[in-house]
Amino acid sequence: MILNTPIDMHLHLREGKMLRDVIPYTINQFAAAVIMPNLVPPVDNRQRLESYKEEILANSENFTPLMNVFMREYTEDELLDLAEDIFAIKLYPAGITTNSEGGVKSIENIYPVLEIMQELGIPLSVHGETNGFVLDREREFAVVYEKLARDFPKLKIIMEHVGTADLLGLLEEYENLYATVTLHHLLLTLDDLAGGMLNPHFFCKPIIKTPADKLKIQEYVKKGHKKVMFGSDSAPHTIKNKLKGAAGVFSAPVILPALAEFFEGDIETFQKFISDNARENFNIEVPERKIELIEEEWTAPYIVGEVKPMWAGKKFRYKVL
Ligand SMILES: [Zn+2]
Repeated sequence: MILNTPIDMHLHLREGKMLRDVIPYTINQFAAAVIMPNLVPPVDNRQRLESYKEEILANSENFTPLMNVFMREYTEDELLDLAEDIFAIKLYPAGITTNSEGGVKSIENIYPVLEIMQELGIPLSVHGETNGFVLDREREFAVVYEKLARDFPKLKIIMEHVGTADLLGLLEEYENLYATVTLHHLLLTLDDLAGGMLNPHFFCKPIIKTPADKLKIQEYVKKGHKKVMFGSDSAPHTIKNKLKGAAGVFSAPVILPALAEFFEGDIETFQKFISDNARENFNIEVPERKIELIEEEWTAPYIVGEVKPMWAGKKFRYKVL
């Protein structure tokens, strides 16, 4: 099967050696990806944006990084300057996930920024979790999504890595809300993480949830819902840091082989989920690139640098050429 211009709408590449280790797995499967800015220090100014983009381009070919910057109280001049060179601004509530300590403490503080983003047509990307009980955090954040969607009706808002399926109901209520779905929230539940032997490599934020959530997310994806897009949230950590409890699933190596099995027999919906929905919703224009998968047994890598991939060693029926 041939996919046209797959885009990963949510990707963590890190920097330096880690980036060089993991990026080949994304380039091999995707024509473009939205690159998350939660580095230390964060990507939140022009200089940092340019040097990070250069690092990615220096380590890739036929690949378009769509850059995000980290939300802070930007001035109008800064936003005017950044607008042409970024895809979106990523909002992390303070302290919610990896390197988000410098995130937003109160949404009201960034209202002037959102006002200008709305005017300039810069989308808002959101890690939507509260500080509540781990299984309730996304559900509790729904009111924030609704408030943002109401207060900024022309601002395109992406609910990232939806794991609580009820959030998807908001897509119908608010025209300006969109959603990304990861491989792990689409295919796993909390049982895979903690139902038997603990598997820290499936630990991420937001945490993978119930079988009912999984089934409902799968329904939305299978019906090719226009506002639901693939975003892997592939987030590599060294094995050492994973065993210390770092949150993040490194899914990049197995994405297309796993999705090819999930979408078996329905390449049209696969194409929408992996590319067309995103390109249409956000007018993304990147050089087209065809990615071919053949039906041949393929084994996921056991290790990539110092990182253990999702489903390391698992056999798939499809292989990326
Ligand atoms: Zn992420």
